[in-house]
Amino acid sequence: MRPVIVDLHNHTTLCNHAEGSMEEYVEEALRKGVGVFGFSDHAPMDFDTRYRMGFDEMADYEARTLALKKQYADRLEILLGYEVDWLPGHMDRRVLEADVDYLIGSIHFIEGWGFDNPEFIGRYREVDIDALWRTYFSLVADMAASGHFQIAGHLDLLKVFRHLPRADMLTLAEGALEAIKEAGMAIEINAAGFRKPIEEAYPSLALLKRARAMGIPITFGSDAHAPEQVGFKQQACIDLARKAGYDRAVIYREKEPVFVPF
Ligand code: ZN
Ligand code: FE
Ligand code: FE
Ligand code: ZN
Repeated sequence: MRPVIVDLHNHTTLCNHAEGSMEEYVEEALRKGVGVFGFSDHAPMDFDTRYRMGFDEMADYEARTLALKKQYADRLEILLGYEVDWLPGHMDRRVLEADVDYLIGSIHFIEGWGFDNPEFIGRYREVDIDALWRTYFSLVADMAASGHFQIAGHLDLLKVFRHLPRADMLTLAEGALEAIKEAGMAIEINAAGFRKPIEEAYPSLALLKRARAMGIPITFGSDAHAPEQVGFKQQACIDLARKAGYDRAVIYREKEPVFVPF
C-alpha cells in the first residue's frame, strides 16, 4: 500500500477562533497531498462557550462535513470528528454519543483554568509545576478510562509555555499511557506545538518512544485554525514518528481503526 498523509485535527470558524471556509481547508489539504483529512472542531460544552460551537450548531457542522466528504470523495477521504474537552462536570451525551468517525479527547482546563491560553499564563507562578503535571496526566488517564474517545489530543500540552516538570516525564505520564493503551486509543502527533513557545510537536520523542514500546498507535494532526496550517510541519511529524519506530498511522471510520502506512 502506498504511503498516506493523514491530518485528523482541523478546526473551523464555528469555534470563533479559527479562520477560513471549510472548502479552503479541504483545498489546502489537496495541495499538501493529504490523503485522509478530518475535521475535529471544538465540540460544544456549557463552559468556555465563547471558544467553541454551540450545541445548536452541531447538526450544521456535521452536515457540511458530510457534504464535503461526498463532494471530494474521488480526491481525498474526509472524516468527521470533534475535539472534545475532558472537563469533569461538563461532559455532555450529545457530544459523547454523536454519530461521528472519531472523538479526540483533550485537556485544556485544570480545575477551570485554561492553562494553554496566554491570557491566563500568570497562574503558572502560583502553582507547583510537578503537582500540576500530575493533575494534568491524571485527567488524561480519566479521559481515556471513560471509554468515549479514539484519540488522545496533544498528550503533553502542558509544556506549551516551556513549564517542564522537574520530575521524570515518563514516570509522570505512566498512568495516562497505561489508560490510553487499556482503552485501545491512539495518540496524535500534533503539530501545533511548533507554533508555540515550546517549538516542538506534542508529544515529545521520549513519550512517543514509550508509547511505541507499549504498542499504542499514532495518528497525525496539524491542529489547523487557518487553511494554510493544514498539513503544517507534516514532514517533521513524520520524521518524529519514524524516529520513535512507527511506520503506520491509524485513522477511524465510524470509530473503527484502520491502519495506513505513512
Ligand atoms: Zn482551538
Ligand atoms: Fe486542543
Ligand atoms: Fe485543536
Ligand atoms: Zn487542539
